[in-house]
Amino acid sequence: MKITDIRATTVTVPLEAPLRHANGCHWGRFVRTVIEVETDEGLVGLGEMGGGGESAEAVFRAMKSYLVGHDPARLEEMRFLIANPTASLYNNRTQVLAALEFACLDLLGQKWGVPVYDILGGRLQDRVPFASYLFFRYPNPRTGAGEVRTADQLVALARELKERHGFTSHKLKGGVFHPDYELECYRALAAEIGKGGDSFRFDPNGVWSTERAIRFGQQIEDIRNDYLEDPVYGMNGMRRVREKVRMPLATNTVVVNFEQLAANVLDTAVDVILLDTTFWGGIRPCVKAAGVCETFQLGVAVHSSGELGIQLATMLHLGACIPNLSFAADAHYHHLTDDIIEGGPFKYAGGSIRVPDGPGLGVRLDRDKLAEYAEAYKRLGGYPYDQDPLRPGWTPTIPNNRWADPEDSRTPTAAGF
Ligand SMILES: [Mg+2]
Repeated sequence: MKITDIRATTVTVPLEAPLRHANGCHWGRFVRTVIEVETDEGLVGLGEMGGGGESAEAVFRAMKSYLVGHDPARLEEMRFLIANPTASLYNNRTQVLAALEFACLDLLGQKWGVPVYDILGGRLQDRVPFASYLFFRYPNPRTGAGEVRTADQLVALARELKERHGFTSHKLKGGVFHPDYELECYRALAAEIGKGGDSFRFDPNGVWSTERAIRFGQQIEDIRNDYLEDPVYGMNGMRRVREKVRMPLATNTVVVNFEQLAANVLDTAVDVILLDTTFWGGIRPCVKAAGVCETFQLGVAVHSSGELGIQLATMLHLGACIPNLSFAADAHYHHLTDDIIEGGPFKYAGGSIRVPDGPGLGVRLDRDKLAEYAEAYKRLGGYPYDQDPLRPGWTPTIPNNRWADPEDSRTPTAAGF
């Protein structure tokens, strides 16, 4: 089988409400690039990457000169072709490689008539458990609904999601408001939702000082925490927090490649590695990293960098085949209102999603949805992920001390939604 063409289409799919985070905001929708890799046997493999627009589409077009005529089974060769580590000093293509790896695995699965998890060692579980992934949210500019700013609103959303999807693990994304205010919200969440033994995790995206992180960590030690995620940015700060706080620390920011994983094994700063199929350059590097974590008995979970159904499928195949997935996975997915895959969005049941067992990734494009959301992208364009629509001029420093005001109940204008 030989690759004959690579197509990239940028789409934007609405969220229920804008998601606030420590570095800015998802302004009410996700922008994603959908990749189609075509072969001489008529098969089309699917990939997905975060962000998009002309520059992302041009990057994938440029990959045709590397990959047309290439056998999609030669994945290790493709790794060096696209993302040789020294050449990557000049061009950072890890995320591009990831999207192409997804598509090639999808092609191989289709050709061989097996799901991707069978190529990766076989399925250990039929369903992957997910955490509720709660965000502080602005109201939806069209409907005024969906705001999460107060502890009551947070608990109400968690309760609704638990009822609807069955989550038993809950993650709160913080780093938006003053840590004392977020502590109140987190404690309210644990008190109201945790009565039946549910577990919790908090992620301020690394924006606290080390001392603040220690203080916050010590004040939540009585909660049933899965872990505290990226309380500070940097291995040395994480190591200092870990000495003083009695719970596991997790990261998706300071251990995102094998060099960093090795450094963390030699001088441990983080207990749980959150594997992201995009950040690590594909599903296979995540499986390899999970093997290293298994050897050194570090915890593993699946990270979400914001996904549509193709990327979610990569997370499900990863979660299905690693033996040491010791925590529920994260997904932004339930905040989306729609998807671009056939049959509509994946469904949660009992807090988990069934791993697709069709050939390849097990998802196919809904052409009408793809066209609809590609058209929406053309109309709306991108949005700055690292800016907040209602805080112009704000710079998210690390450590941060410029918090949003929890009394501010404004709604962003509808422009750009
Ligand atoms: Mg994180």
